[in-house]
Amino acid sequence: SNVSHELKTPLTAIQAYTETLLDGALDEPEHRVRFVERIAEQANRLHALIQDLLRLARIESGENVFDVRAVALKPIVEACLEEHSAVAESKSQRLSAEPADDEISVMADEEGLHTILSNLIDNAVKYTQESGAIAVRWRAENGAAIIEVEDNGPGIPVEHQPRIFERFYRVDRARSRDVGGTGLGLSIVKHLVQVFGGGIEIRSQAGQGTTFSVRLPRPEEGEESELSSPLNADGA
Ligand code: ADP
Repeated sequence: SNVSHELKTPLTAIQAYTETLLDGALDEPEHRVRFVERIAEQANRLHALIQDLLRLARIESGENVFDVRAVALKPIVEACLEEHSAVAESKSQRLSAEPADDEISVMADEEGLHTILSNLIDNAVKYTQESGAIAVRWRAENGAAIIEVEDNGPGIPVEHQPRIFERFYRVDRARSRDVGGTGLGLSIVKHLVQVFGGGIEIRSQAGQGTTFSVRLPRPEEGEESELSSPLNADGA
């Protein structure tokens, strides 16, 4: 019922704007552009929602859709930061990568790892105010890698934190809608992290910024050297 409500809201808006245009607003130059812009906005929202729902369904299908292998963190983090650099720049935010060790790899599906980091960075950029700072840090800890996405944004009040990974749960519904959120990002992140045998934690307080900390298994020695050994480097 949650899903149908979330889908119906933008669809109903599109229908209403379309009817208004057909009922005469097409002849009112002062209104028609605004209405068409609203239609485009709601169609984009619907598109984002459907994409996220399909992503979740794919993860939940239990089918073996992931190619889990040793993936180096640095290039993926850098690609994700690069994808968000234009929006961060438009908000005068500082985005930084702070590796403790450049060489760390994790056992994950590459696209899945990209989705995890991209969703966390996307939230940090979306919810943090202008001139804020977002840092991605990572380090090895025993057999795992810890990846942290930290921002100095509005924070998430403690009472909301237990529910933050639920589908469609938002601390501030209007705010999420304004920044183009689907309410599914963290739920996708949590599912993916679990599929890869890891975990996710949040540290935050209202007004004090937010840190999401993702733990993912690192390849065992054999797995890593197998991938980087000179014998395999040329595909032999
Ligand atoms: P949305 O699409 O609404 O961003 P998410 O599942 O990604 O959905 O996040 C759920 C809610 O958690 C958001 O609506 C927002 O209220 C809160 N949230 C997530 N990340 C942050 C963050 N870095 N800072 C503040 N609030 C956040």
